Amino acid sequence: MNTIVDSFEKIKSKISSLKPIKPVNIIAVSKTFALDYINPLISHGHLHFGENKVQEAIAKWSGLKKENQNLKLHMIGKLQSNKAKDAVKLFDYIHSVDNQKLADALSKHQLNLNKKLNYFIQVNLGNEIQKSGIPVGELEAFYNYCKNEKNLKIIGLMIIPPLEDNAEKYFKTLAELNKSMALAHTSMGMSADYLEAVKHGSTFVRIGSSIFGSRSKP
Ligand SMILES: *Cc1c(COP(=O)(O)O)cnc(C)c1O
Repeated sequence: MNTIVDSFEKIKSKISSLKPIKPVNIIAVSKTFALDYINPLISHGHLHFGENKVQEAIAKWSGLKKENQNLKLHMIGKLQSNKAKDAVKLFDYIHSVDNQKLADALSKHQLNLNKKLNYFIQVNLGNEIQKSGIPVGELEAFYNYCKNEKNLKIIGLMIIPPLEDNAEKYFKTLAELNKSMALAHTSMGMSADYLEAVKHGSTFVRIGSSIFGSRSKP
């Protein structure tokens, strides 16, 4: 078997062995990887892929998505509102809704393009000034704004835990917040910590290097 498909299957069985209550979607994060790496997984029948840059995603995925309408593409990186239109055109899920200007732009473009995407609100639990995400204190108000005033289909919360910190406490807190807001999904867990995330009920894990190999530094 292809090594990428093999790595993917191993991750899938590790997740299954935890017997998660809710189905777990593996987003194969293919940023920086060329189509040669991606195609074997598509042929294997995998549907969920993630990218973090709009231009790169357009170049790699426009053709593939025309050929295979079942593919689901996830925008997991920081999204500038001036790229919202291109993002709405291409992606099915956006995990990084983290400010009002972006919510406004997404709402406008999905209406104009007659699309309805699935969204996550990115939460900042670490309160680090350099990190993106809505602070917990503003979360409820921002959620209501997105949902009620902007007609965005928010399906859950997303987190990127601070580096070199114990991710598990963040997963636990995010899961509790998610529950208190009656949201169905959480986007949490990466190559290093997806099993902990699944233990805390994650329904979308974003896995790059454990599937595709290590990324060369830009
Ligand atoms: C790159 C990236 C991932 C995947 O990271 P790995 O450690 O390679 O699994 C997950 N989430 C986000 C937001 C990313 O940018």
